[in-house]
Amino acid sequence: MAQTNGKIGVTTENIFPVIKQFLYSDHEIFLREIVANAVDASQKVKALASSGDFKGELGEIAVRVDLDEENKILTVTDRGIGMTEEEVDKYINQIAFSSAGEFLEKYKDQIGSIIGHFGLGFYSSFMVSKKVTIDTLSWKEGAKAVKWSCDGTPEYSIEPSEKTDRGTVITMYLDDDSAEYAKKERISSLLSKYCKFMPVPVYFGKEQEWKDGKYVDTDKDKLINDIDPIWTKAPSSLKEEDYMKFYKALYPMHDEPLFYIHLNVDYPFNLTGILYFPKIKERMAIEKNKIQLYCNQMFVTDHVENIVPEFLTLLHGVIDSPDIPLNVSRSYLQSDSNVKKISTYITKKVADRLQEIFDSERAAFEKKWDNIKLFIEYGMLSDEKFCDSAMNFTLVKNTDGKYFSLEDYRKAVADNQTDKDKKTVCLYATDVDAQYPFIEAARNRGYDVLLMDCELDSHFVNLLEQKMQDVRFARVDSDSIDNLIPKEDRTRLEMKEDQRYDLENMFKAVLPEGNDYFVNGDTLGEGSDPVLITQSEFMRRYREMSSLSGGMNFYGEMPNSYNITVNMDNPLISKIMDAAKAEIKPQGELPAEAPESASDDEKKAAREKREAVRAAHREDVESFAKGNEILHQVIDLALLANGMLKGKALSDFIARSKKVVSDAYLK
Ligand code: ADP
Repeated sequence: MAQTNGKIGVTTENIFPVIKQFLYSDHEIFLREIVANAVDASQKVKALASSGDFKGELGEIAVRVDLDEENKILTVTDRGIGMTEEEVDKYINQIAFSSAGEFLEKYKDQIGSIIGHFGLGFYSSFMVSKKVTIDTLSWKEGAKAVKWSCDGTPEYSIEPSEKTDRGTVITMYLDDDSAEYAKKERISSLLSKYCKFMPVPVYFGKEQEWKDGKYVDTDKDKLINDIDPIWTKAPSSLKEEDYMKFYKALYPMHDEPLFYIHLNVDYPFNLTGILYFPKIKERMAIEKNKIQLYCNQMFVTDHVENIVPEFLTLLHGVIDSPDIPLNVSRSYLQSDSNVKKISTYITKKVADRLQEIFDSERAAFEKKWDNIKLFIEYGMLSDEKFCDSAMNFTLVKNTDGKYFSLEDYRKAVADNQTDKDKKTVCLYATDVDAQYPFIEAARNRGYDVLLMDCELDSHFVNLLEQKMQDVRFARVDSDSIDNLIPKEDRTRLEMKEDQRYDLENMFKAVLPEGNDYFVNGDTLGEGSDPVLITQSEFMRRYREMSSLSGGMNFYGEMPNSYNITVNMDNPLISKIMDAAKAEIKPQGELPAEAPESASDDEKKAAREKREAVRAAHREDVESFAKGNEILHQVIDLALLANGMLKGKALSDFIARSKKVVSDAYLK
């Protein structure tokens, strides 16, 4: 055969610059493409042998990668089917044709796994090479070896080759811009990223051993892949430790996972894989993009956000499916019906598995709950279907550390904690230490208090109220104990407006600045605290939710507002009120308002007079309040119970307390 020269059959005058710049943003994938072709060719020859079409000697079927660092030459050698001259012309020169379709058509019954997914695969070698040669001998009887070579222009040459054994050698003469690929470590790490689970042995370099104080090569070729990773095996043939070992191999630096899920489905789409629940210690440590997507054991990507539902991207592991279209845009991917089905399937499997563990290993499930809670709440908040299933296995934990399913919890507290409107009120705390006095008060009433200390809990509590009928959640410090779970219609203390106004001014004069206060008198019983500071469930929850979603909206911008309940039954309060009555002279008559007919100036003057009388009275009230040590003391105690007494206010309180104590005891 004489040397032939020709032009590669593409329409663009010079396709290579295009390939280099635009085809793949990630040049490094060239290695996957070339090794994947070698693996394909190897699988094909095996298939031909088992179908009886190929009767010759198979030999050891493996792929070898070799690097000549000095001359910057990278070769990939296989013992696959090879190519005849016509095939080189057809499959390589006329890019548009790919043999995969044809081959698959013929052998689809024997091998389901050979699909040329990667389109312009071979040509990606030109992203890093100034020249590429293909040395190949076909499996076909009487085939002649050929050598194709091309130096990055559309001209190629094809000539006879010396090659005597079946298979193909791809030789890449790396260009100067791609010198990074002429390093062993780089190739080694690329192979382990892209080829770790390819289904045919891939060798690169030699095994090393420790000798005379350093690592030296042995004679043994180094295998870089695991040709039958556990996700390809039947779940029944695997043990827990196999799954854990595989996780360690995937993520050597991570803690043991909490649970695993083996995915295995072949209808209506084909998908295998293993997903793991990582131990999530804190939100900052959540790593997304830890799921690797494979196609017939060929690594495709670790960006699966369009394939698995968003909340599941927190999981780790491997998904392998030939049914996920790969060379398509992200938006197409999201609308692809297979991808939708896959996403639904994975969600369902995750929920089923959690249910299974909940049913059969309840103690272990409870033990791991704190670590998966964030994940599950996130899933429930973002995926309606998952939420519906998760309602059955979601746990809540009370402040004694006891776990309940949602339904069990409702049953457990219903008797004691149902209010006059027939709503079961679930009390919760977000911080046991900070809200301790309120938790104590609730427990003393025989109420149970849940712990909701996860950052998604304010959203989650809202969700539970929507999903559980006739259940309401109230933070334990959101009202006085009687009002948290009102059992009957209580008549609240009625105060005259000017009386309430005085009370409000009195308290505001002493409370720390910067917050809004709603001061009201109530009758909480003689033995109850003189002052109670609470924050309304509604206001607090919406503030938290808006700050979580990052928006400074209406609620987020408002100052903190607190309800100050003054217990008029408390003897200290009675005494303070008596003192106020004695010390503050009554406001007296307000000057009359100007008649309708008066001029604007007259009206204004009258208004100002009235205002002046009011202000003078308010000043009296305030100066009384500021001078009353016991009023300061009872307010500070209430602030202290809420963890709101800080800085100078705290040290003033301490100094005053010392004085009050010695006054009371030493005098
Ligand atoms: P694809 O693999 O998607 O078909 P490629 O451009 O990578 O596209 O390869 C084109 C064709 O060239 C392959 O389908 C195959 O027929 C042939 N080919 C490439 N590499 C090899 C090889 N190592 N051995 C045999 N045939 C090969």
